[in-house]
Amino acid sequence: MHQFIKQTALSVGFDACGIAKATALTEDAEFMQQWLHNGKQGEMHYLERNFEKRTDPRLLVPGCKSVVVVLMNYFPEKTQPETAPKIARYAYSEIDYHTVLRSKLKKLEDIIIEKSGTESVNSLYQHSFVDSAPVLERRWAERAGLGWIGKHTQLITPGWGSYCFIGVLMLNFETGYDVPVANRCGSCTRCIETCPTNALNGKSIDARRCISYQTIELKKTVENEIQPLLSGCALGCDICADICPWNKKWAKPHIHPELKPVEEILSWEKPDWQQLTAEKFNTTFRSSAIKRAGFAKLKENIAFATKNKEKYD
Ligand code: SF4
Ligand code: SF4
Repeated sequence: MHQFIKQTALSVGFDACGIAKATALTEDAEFMQQWLHNGKQGEMHYLERNFEKRTDPRLLVPGCKSVVVVLMNYFPEKTQPETAPKIARYAYSEIDYHTVLRSKLKKLEDIIIEKSGTESVNSLYQHSFVDSAPVLERRWAERAGLGWIGKHTQLITPGWGSYCFIGVLMLNFETGYDVPVANRCGSCTRCIETCPTNALNGKSIDARRCISYQTIELKKTVENEIQPLLSGCALGCDICADICPWNKKWAKPHIHPELKPVEEILSWEKPDWQQLTAEKFNTTFRSSAIKRAGFAKLKENIAFATKNKEKYD
């Protein structure tokens, strides 16, 4: 069943799949408690809720015995013009990646049910997750043998790098499990040194200082201290991922038609972004993950990002 699930995941369009035994994430729970205690989550208060469930999938999905983790490469073939305020690569696609991954996870689940019966999943509870608060997806990916968590706190997958979406499916039966891979960061500290806001310390991230948090998660205006450090980023940040030697070695353009980029992201120059109207925003990004940030926040970010971009270039 182990190989069947992994091969089916590839056949429905994921790039990699691994499976881990559902257990309590004891060490991660301690680490996370400390991280939350230090306030590094900033205003992402949802991370404080459901703590027990977040660190034990058997409490989140009763009956869960196995955690299937799937990856989908999103590294784009083309990037934005040099002058444009930067949009993180994960947000390039016309269709929000949550929608794409959920649909593929459903296909995978249906095939597993066809083979092993309806008892394979707990249909009374949500049992598949894409980027959702109650699941520590990167930790599960690591346990499922899909890579290691680098000093930039992202998953690095051998052969793919870190530009991958992660999806999780909880199953109610035991199967074979994958073995975690070794951490290959070694003595490298490039991401820590390159982060413009000093958000990394080699062990964890201070989300409050991270450009991704400041430009997306934080509903208020980007903080004064961070505004001059945005380094041209208007929505999210790929700086620590771009500098990582493993991405230089492994990242390659995805081949997923579902992740076709919004044309305007690839063609708009700085003035196009500066002149963006609410109406244009709503039509251009109607199905995209960018819409989640909201027009007002994006506009504000663009103003800060373009103000200090020259310095970064
Ligand atoms: S995403 Fe950007 S701001 Fe956040 S840790 Fe990486 S380099 Fe720093
Ligand atoms: S830049 Fe270096 S330290 Fe940072 S994640 Fe990549 S290999 Fe690890």
